[in-house]
Order: sequence, then C-alpha cells, then structure tokens
Amino acid sequence: MSNDNNKGGSNPVSAVRGVQGLQPYQPGKPIDELARELGLDPATIIKLASNENPLGPSAKALAAIQAELPELCRYPDGNGYELKQKLSLRLGVDPAQVTLGNGSNDILELVTRAFADSSAEVVYSQHAFAVYAIATQAIGATHVPVPAKDWGHDLEAMAAAINDKTRVVFVANPNNPTGTAISRDALDRFLNAVPAGVIVVLDEAYGEYIEDPDFPDGLQWVGRHPNLVVTRTFSKAWGLAALRVGYAISSPEVADILNRVRQPFNVSALGLAAASAVLDDEEYLQRSRETNRKGMQQLETGFKALGLSFIPSKGNFIAVDVGREAMPVYQGLLQEGVIVRPVGGYGMPNHLRVSIGLPEENRRFLEALGRVLERLEHT
Ligand SMILES: *Cc1c(COP(=O)(O)O)cnc(C)c1O
Repeated sequence: MSNDNNKGGSNPVSAVRGVQGLQPYQPGKPIDELARELGLDPATIIKLASNENPLGPSAKALAAIQAELPELCRYPDGNGYELKQKLSLRLGVDPAQVTLGNGSNDILELVTRAFADSSAEVVYSQHAFAVYAIATQAIGATHVPVPAKDWGHDLEAMAAAINDKTRVVFVANPNNPTGTAISRDALDRFLNAVPAGVIVVLDEAYGEYIEDPDFPDGLQWVGRHPNLVVTRTFSKAWGLAALRVGYAISSPEVADILNRVRQPFNVSALGLAAASAVLDDEEYLQRSRETNRKGMQQLETGFKALGLSFIPSKGNFIAVDVGREAMPVYQGLLQEGVIVRPVGGYGMPNHLRVSIGLPEENRRFLEALGRVLERLEHT
C-alpha cells in the first residue's frame, strides 16, 4: 500500500484562514522531556517555567479527589453547583455571575467565540499573555496589539485603540510574563472609557498572590460594568494546574452567553471536587503567598548580586534581563537541569521568566545562572 500521508501539498484539507496562521502555544518544557534528553533522573531537575505552585497540591484537594474516584464512571455536574456556591460565598457574587472553565484559558476562548467574529478587532497589550493572540487568531479576528509602556499595559493607548469594530479587550493584572500591575485609578478610568458594547476581560490569574491593599480587585467593578469579565484560576496560588479549573465573574447576562458556548462538561469531576475542597484550605493559600513573597526576595537579591536587572513583579514569577541574548542562557540552564522560560516570543529576547520556587530550588537556579553566565562570558 502506498503511503500518501506526507504529501502535504496535495492535501485538499485546509484550516480556516485564522487557524492557518496560528502558532501553537509554547508551554514550559516538561521535566520528563528534559530528563529523557539529558539522560537525567527527573527528580534532580528543577522546573521554574510555568508559574506552577512549588508547594505541591493541598492535602484537602488530594483527599477530595480520592473520595471522588468511585464516581468516575459518571459525568461531572455540568453546572458545577457546589463550586459555584462556594465561589459565590467567598467572593460575594451571585452564582449566576460565575462561569466555570477548563482552566481560565477556556474562558478566554469562550469570550472571543461568543463576542467576536472574523470581522472584529481584539485589543491587547504588547508583551501580554500569549493566549489572547491565540484566541483572537483562532476566530480569524484582527489583532490590535498596543505598544507597552515600561513593560506594562498602556491603558490610555489601549482605550484609544478601540473603534467601531472592537469587540473584546484583554487586560492582564498582573500581566504574564512581565509581572507588571495596573493601578486602581488607571483601571477605573479605563473601564469608564470603554464603550458599553465592548467586552473587557480582566485576567487576574495571579490575583490570590496579591497582598498589597491598594491593588485593584476587579470584582469591585463588575456591578457597575456589565461588559466586564474578571477571570481567575485554580492553576497558580491554589496549586491545581493539572486539573484545569478556572472561572469568570461577570454580569449574569454575560455569564449566560458564555454558558451557551461552553461544552456542557468542560470541567472534570476531579477538578470540581479538588477546587471546591481547596477553597477550604486557607492555610495552604497563606503558605503559597508566604513562599512566594520570600522566594521573590531571594531571587531579587540573587539577581542584584549577579548585576542583573529585572522587572519588579506582582506575580509568582519574575522576568530577569540577562544582559545578552537569553536563548543561550536558557540552553545553558537546561544543561544544568534547570528549566526556566525564554520569552523571545513575547518580544523580550534578553529576558528569562523564572517562576518562584522553593528556597532550595531558587538557590540552585541562582547558582546555575551564575555558572552559565560566567561560562558564556568566556566564549
Ligand atoms: C497561567 C495564566 C492563566 C491561567 O491558565 P489556566 O488555563 O487557568 O491554567 C491565565 N492568564 C494568565 C495571564 C496566566 O498567566
């Protein structure tokens, strides 16, 4: 039998226009992949590349998953009743304002699918989270990236970029990969400037890490702005990245629309159970914050000692300027068994994004970074 599988040119199947230009999202390198490539024991590898919680999952989440196992033959609760109840109590919103997602990435895509089409424009900042571009491209809409100011969102310029075709604006606070934050006043002015018919997604994936009382909590604006969608996730401070659970808080009208386009069982039963349980583990959240605060200080001190500048970050990661093209530094760190994230694809070729790890992981990373930079000096 002849094999025609590789004759790409003659294949009559083709993706729609938007998807043809789509580049797959580049995730952090998995530990097992590097272990295979270098012939290393995975246990010796440090991954500080995907802004995951270094503490491991909450014991309460693990117990809830265990309890759920006998029910795996059944479909999950497609309405996520218990999780929505808990979120609404915790956040002071109505359950009808909550939309659950398969990670908050799912919500970002639901928004573009529900509110934009190929004739629409979607506005987001330079150096912003990559999924905004992917969600825009996938529906064939027009990208309107707005130049950043001091690595952060220039909200005045973003408001000015809105026109009759604009359907969605993505704002990340704090932003990934820069860690930059938006002030309360700037956010308020921006939300007042955006026309009521344009959806604003305020992505607060790192919101639970924020300890600064002046940092704006997007939920405070949801009542006044029915076009506002605040997204959050269980992947970061709550430590459940593998289970893919995120959510949006919005007006009930917008939630109703998002719920129409989502898949009926978009969040798994294990995800629902673990997310509900972890919300009762306040101690875990406190520990996550404390580990992050101390680890951030450790990395900042280490970078200063190495003479490197960095972008002050409000997240659980920090972008460091390695003072040269970052890709060889990234490769050198891989050889040392340390995985971080190159961000050249975000227009930051001299930076590496490093997630905050445990004290020992941070120490090993800083030592490896020092060695790699030293070695590159001499080549
Ligand atoms: C990590 C992250 C997300 C969340 O991803 P999940 O799909 O919830 O795992 C969303 N937005 C930003 C800016 C992020 O960094």
